[in-house]
Parts: sequence; C-alpha cells; structure tokens
Amino acid sequence: MAIKLFNTLSKQKETFIPQDPKKVTMYVCGPTVYSHPHIGNARAALIPDILYRLLLSYYPGDVVYIRNITDVDDKILKAANEQGVKPTEISEKFTDVYLNNMAQLNILHPTHQPKVTEFMDSIISMIHKIIDSGHGYVENNHVLFNTEKDNNYGCLSRKKLDEMIDGARVEVAEYKKSPRDFVLWKPSDNDSFGWDSPWGYGRPGWHIECTSMIKKIIGDDCTLDIHGGGNDLIFPHHENEIAQGSCISTSKYCNYWFHNGIVLVNKKKMSKSLGNVILLDDLLKEHSSSVIRLALLSAHYRQPLNWTEQTIINAKNLYKKLVSAVGIITEDMFYYAAEATYLPFSQCGEIQDILSDDLNTPEVINYLSRLAKTARNNSDDAMKLAQSMKFIGLDLAKKSYMNLPDDKDIINLIKQRDEYRIKKDFKSADEVRDKLLDMGVELRDSDGKTTWKYSED
Ligand SMILES: [Zn+2]
Repeated sequence: MAIKLFNTLSKQKETFIPQDPKKVTMYVCGPTVYSHPHIGNARAALIPDILYRLLLSYYPGDVVYIRNITDVDDKILKAANEQGVKPTEISEKFTDVYLNNMAQLNILHPTHQPKVTEFMDSIISMIHKIIDSGHGYVENNHVLFNTEKDNNYGCLSRKKLDEMIDGARVEVAEYKKSPRDFVLWKPSDNDSFGWDSPWGYGRPGWHIECTSMIKKIIGDDCTLDIHGGGNDLIFPHHENEIAQGSCISTSKYCNYWFHNGIVLVNKKKMSKSLGNVILLDDLLKEHSSSVIRLALLSAHYRQPLNWTEQTIINAKNLYKKLVSAVGIITEDMFYYAAEATYLPFSQCGEIQDILSDDLNTPEVINYLSRLAKTARNNSDDAMKLAQSMKFIGLDLAKKSYMNLPDDKDIINLIKQRDEYRIKKDFKSADEVRDKLLDMGVELRDSDGKTTWKYSED
C-alpha cells in the first residue's frame, strides 16, 4: 500500500513517493494571526493533521512538518489601528489563541513552527537573491517580482493572463512593469511594524514570507515533498511561492501540492457582514474535540464542507456510538490503545488503507460506523475501532466528554436495580432505570442479563 494524493500541479491522483524515503518534508501555510480562528481555519489545520498522522504511520520519525505563523501582514496592522494597540499586541494575542485552540482540537504539533518576525534576515537575503537572479526590480520604494521573466508562471493555477490580472488581490499600481507583478518588499509608515532593509524601512509581502521560511528550513536547493493550504491560496499565493523559490534554486520548488476546500455555513460563505462566522472558541465550549473533528471530516477534503446544525448533531451521535462500542474492551486493552499513539499504526490495516486513498475521510466515517456495530460482540473489532479512533486523533475516554456518566456509576446503578428486582421492588427498579435514561444510558434485559449502551440522541 502507498499513499495516493491528488496533486494540484498535475490535476490528478498520484502515488506519493518522497525524494528521500528517510525524510519527508511538508509545509502548510499557517494562520494570519489577527482574529479568532473559525471553523474554516480548523479545517485547514485538521486536514494536514490527518495527512501528517498518515505520513507518520508510513515514515515514523522521518516526517518534517512545517506550519508557519504569519505574524506580519496588513490585516494585523488594520486590526491594530482599529483597536488602537501595537500590531505585536494583536499578533501575540492571536498566536496564543490559535495555538490554544489547536491543542484543544488535538492537532499534533508541527516539527517547526516558524514566525515571520523571526525570519526577517532570511526574507531580506532571499529578496537580494531574487534581484540578483534578474527576477526582481526596485521601483517607487517597493521591490517587485518580475513575472515576465518567469516562463513557468501560472503552472499551478493554469490561469490565463487576463484571469491572473483579474484575480490579483491588490490594485494594479502604476510602478509595476506587468499587472501580474507582485510585491516582495514595501515601505511601512508604522514605527512599530517595519524593519530596516537595503530598500528602506518596510515590511515583506506575504508570498515571500512562506518561501523564505521554507528555504531557510529545508535548504535553497532542496525540493519540498508536499505543500498544502486552502484552495483559495492556489492563486496568487502558491503560484507566487513557486515563482520566487524556483528562480533562486536549481531544484523544483515542490513535488506535491494539496489543497482543501472551503467551509460553508448553510451553503453560504462565512462573513462578518452575514454574521455567520462560527468561531472555534465557541464551538470548543460546547463540544469535545472528537465531535468537532468528526464533523469536519464528514466531507471529503477537496470538496466544500457545508456546515449546518445537523453536521454537529450527526458527529455527536456517531461519537457516542463509538465510545459506547469501544467501552466493551478490557481496561488493559483500552489503555494499550490509548497510550499507543503511533506504535500500532502499521498494524492498523484498514484505516490506513482508506486514508491512503487521497484521505478518504467520509469512507473512514462509514468504516467506524460499521465497526461500532460489530464491536459490541467482537473484541477484535472493538480493538480495531479503538486503534482507528486513535489514528484520526479521537479520544477514547468516555468520561468528561459530552458529560457522559462514568462506567463505574452506571454499573453500580445497574447492581442496585438488580437488588430491587430480586426483592420484587419493581417500582424502585424502574426508578433506577429512568434515572439512567436521564443520564443518557439505555438498558436492555435479555437472558437474565442486563447490558447497557449510551442512548443515541
Ligand atoms: Zn503560505
């Protein structure tokens, strides 16, 4: 079995082959830290997290996963001006919020987490290299990338010239040689949000930030195995990254590009003006990380995810079924599965196979649902279920999630009910049954034995 990934560069599913089987490199564009992360940011972090876990199962210990923090950006400056604080106050605050949210969502730490502010020397030196290669020019206190010099420009998005001009985020400034040209360095008039450079006091453009951090970490002449991000980043951000990285290097910039789709709320794009932005902070107050993860994995990563009230209800019901089914395995096995974060991956079989087919998470959900049905009577399936849940970062613990009662309390109540039934005090026995029902536990009596499960709504 090998991993197959849809490569945006070739527009087809390809077998993933790292250049060096002992070292896989992956970079994912991280958040711009200027406000609270929403579910779109959560999906953009969770999809690479699933891919990272899958890669670790194939190449344990050999995956270099880089996810940056964009702490220099116009959006940060705008938020700072609006709130009358220093830009660093905004970026530091929201870096903390982001990392906290990610930890709560059980997203694994990347191997490297570079911040733009810590890579300013590398950014300036890369801009020098681009100018030296003949691909950059200085005009009107800006440094710009000359796209006319790049014959490959457009290779990722495959956009035509006029589409690229329409798609450019910035207004076409008159000092640009071509409207497609993009900023590498621009002047800053904010005393606390700029750096000295050979081209004056200023700050870098967004695209050069990612390319510089990647090259500083993996080396100028190294090719990145995988680069990911939301599909809104394909153009111009990733197109420009390729242009910048290619002109200063003898190597291809990146072999596999993967992009995740957008999150819609009731089929609409999230926006402040519509008031439909779902913040991760709010979601985490109401739901466990496992429920949120299942909800976000319910659609295939390349498709848009349409978030509705039902999305989270379905995830919650599924998670209840899973924890209930996995509850039949013995304590020893349970702890083995819970502790073994990476160890049994190679023995995990089916879930690894399903994910290896271009991260087919909807099929993972079908698989978990099927296992939940058979696991109640089959401890091998229960064990498989526990391991599969761990594989995609779900919690096995039954307590403290969704306020589910503790097993021991349930069992004690069932014993109490048995005693009432022996004494033929059926009224009290029924009261215990109702109490359990209120706690979300259903009982079933058959062949003189009582079994229980978490109720499903
Ligand atoms: Zn980026």
